[in-house]
Amino acid sequence: MQITNHDLQTIKTIARMAASVCQTIQEEMVHPAQKDGREPVTIADYASQALIGNALASNYPDDAVLSEERSEEFMLLLDDAQRALVQRYVTDAVGGYVFEEEICAWLDYGKQKTAERTWVIDPIDGTKGFLARRHYCVAIGLLVDFKPVLGVLASPGFYSHEDSPREDIGALIFARQGGGAYIEPLFGGEPEPIHVSSQLEPASAVLLTSYESAHTDRAFLARIGKALGRGPDSPEHQLDSQDKHAMIAAGMGDIFIRLAPDNGYLEKMWDHCAGHVIVTEAGGRITDIYGRELDFSTGRRMTRNRGIVVTNRYLHDTVLEAIRKSAPPGWQDAAPSTESEPSDD
Ligand code: AMP
Ligand code: MG
Repeated sequence: MQITNHDLQTIKTIARMAASVCQTIQEEMVHPAQKDGREPVTIADYASQALIGNALASNYPDDAVLSEERSEEFMLLLDDAQRALVQRYVTDAVGGYVFEEEICAWLDYGKQKTAERTWVIDPIDGTKGFLARRHYCVAIGLLVDFKPVLGVLASPGFYSHEDSPREDIGALIFARQGGGAYIEPLFGGEPEPIHVSSQLEPASAVLLTSYESAHTDRAFLARIGKALGRGPDSPEHQLDSQDKHAMIAAGMGDIFIRLAPDNGYLEKMWDHCAGHVIVTEAGGRITDIYGRELDFSTGRRMTRNRGIVVTNRYLHDTVLEAIRKSAPPGWQDAAPSTESEPSDD
């Protein structure tokens, strides 16, 4: 099935709208002194997903969707005041009164369905970054026959030019299979093509990892760094969300390793689908930590892969080799079967 430039424009508009609601909720509900409390992210997650579901339902009524949130939890876990807040933000965004039943239908749009096309959505990728006012993005990817073919990241925390860092204009980073990868200012401006770096030296490569230490096996990562000849001066940035994929695609980073501390952790489809297209179209390479291609056919969780390695392509084999050398005993045997069962949770 042909994915057109028109599809890309439609998804860019949807991602922008969802990111805009997230920004409003962040401004109104996340207070600088706030240390805990997930309420703003809960409200923003549901509002963002409902808006995306509504827009996809009207543009692509026959497609399937994989996304994190469900109406059942919306009704069960949120109190009346929280549901009313979601309703208010969605109503403001669509410009007409929205009933709670509509929000539920939009949250669940396309679930329990199989189709040739599946939209893969993270309404807020990097929820902890959202709360801490670091990085987060809205991620919308598209699978056709379970292969990623389109990806859009709307990232309010991204900066679009290396020479104008942190102007807080945010960025849209997007790609369509065969059409290249691009970046443009989040709320309008000219798109510019992006490409991966030409870095060949692992010791001076910019390494990207998760900001959250709970998402990374730091001891394993340190051994990999050593095997790559990296030292205390080797550059590393920790940041949330698929902004890491986007930075590799834009040549602002060279290696990204995602290595959950728990070897049984299954990566979620919506944490990689959009980023996969963007990285690949920018000339980069993406596999799991065993060097396998990512298998997007297994439902919400990636049961046939472990971890993730994204590079500018030139450094990829070197990084995989360093991972093998640094792995604990039995690591190779713990690789998931390429036939493992799809997940249905
Ligand atoms: P990042 O900002 O790259 O760490 O990615 C954020 C994503 O990490 C979230 O969208 C979650 O799906 C995922 N995540 C949540 N818990 C864990 C965990 N224990 N280990 C690895 N990833 C996790
Ligand atoms: Mg996520």
